[in-house]
Amino acid sequence: MAYSYDNQNIFARILRGEIPNNTVLETEHSLAFHDIAPQAPVHVLVIPKGPYVTYDHFAAEASAEEIVDFTQTVGLVCAQMEVTPGAGDAGYRMIANSGSNGVQDVPHLHIHILGGRMLGRMLSRNG
Ligand code: 5GP
Repeated sequence: MAYSYDNQNIFARILRGEIPNNTVLETEHSLAFHDIAPQAPVHVLVIPKGPYVTYDHFAAEASAEEIVDFTQTVGLVCAQMEVTPGAGDAGYRMIANSGSNGVQDVPHLHIHILGGRMLGRMLSRNG
């Protein structure tokens, strides 16, 4: 399966420093920053620095080092934002919208981490 990556997407431009971001955490292979239009008191996006469109793309083509870094960054952001249920807070939701049915607006893999309020059920029935 060939994946095509658009290097003009907004997150690619953030990674190149062409657009500012409000960084939460940066590692060798990942960047976490606040969403520009937060939908909850905590709304952080975690992205790999490599050119991956979706999680399945990342899983198929990223190195083990990138995958470990990204996974650990997600966990560290949850801890930093104090939403981890294991540490006594109320929890969070991770979302990775993918492709057209997933209503992905930015074609660079990103995990939304949402918390700080009751988020309701996972999906509404009317889309
Ligand atoms: P998607 O719909 O692709 O899952 O989510 C894209 C997310 O990126 C949206 O929540 C949107 O608010 C966020 N976003 C779009 N442009 C920017 C930007 O320039 N900076 C930041 N920090 N977030 C952005």
